[in-house]
Amino acid sequence: MSRPAILIVGGGIGGLTAAAGLAQAGFAVTVLEAAPAFGEIGAGVTLSPNAMRGFDFTGCMEKVAAAGVEPKRQRIQHWQDGRALLTLERADAREKY
Ligand SMILES: Cc1cc2nc3c(=O)[nH]c(=O)nc-3n(C[C@H](O)[C@H](O)[C@H](O)COP(=O)(O)OP(=O)(O)OC[C@H]3O[C@@H](n4cnc5c(N)ncnc54)[C@H](O)[C@@H]3O)c2cc1C
Repeated sequence: MSRPAILIVGGGIGGLTAAAGLAQAGFAVTVLEAAPAFGEIGAGVTLSPNAMRGFDFTGCMEKVAAAGVEPKRQRIQHWQDGRALLTLERADAREKY
């Protein structure tokens, strides 16, 4: 039995990750994206260990990692006075997760 062709509407991180996974599983995938071109939007994105596992599954993890930085520490600050509200150690994230 032939596999169905799959149409994904939206080439954001969700659509493209689904497309990569489905293509690797042997499906013919077409992605429709409304934006005229792919490019950087905004300042950046923090990718959680779960997200990196998704990229690992699709074979994209090392490329994604190479395009970013692995923070050793994460601090959440108050928007008005800059006071540190929460500090999380991240140096062991790869081993931990
Ligand atoms: C300011 C900001 C900061 C964020 N920071 C983080 C962060 O640090 N870490 C994190 O994990 N998440 C962050 N998020 C959330 C994260 O960006 C979203 O959860 C994620 O991008 C959603 O991905 P998506 O593929 O589901 O949707 P989107 O990225 O919204 O992609 C949907 C795509 O579909 C296209 N589209 C829509 N309608 C149609 C149509 N009818 N036809 C064709 N194409 C269409 C759109 O053009 C778009 O490219 C942030 C969000 C914002 C706004």
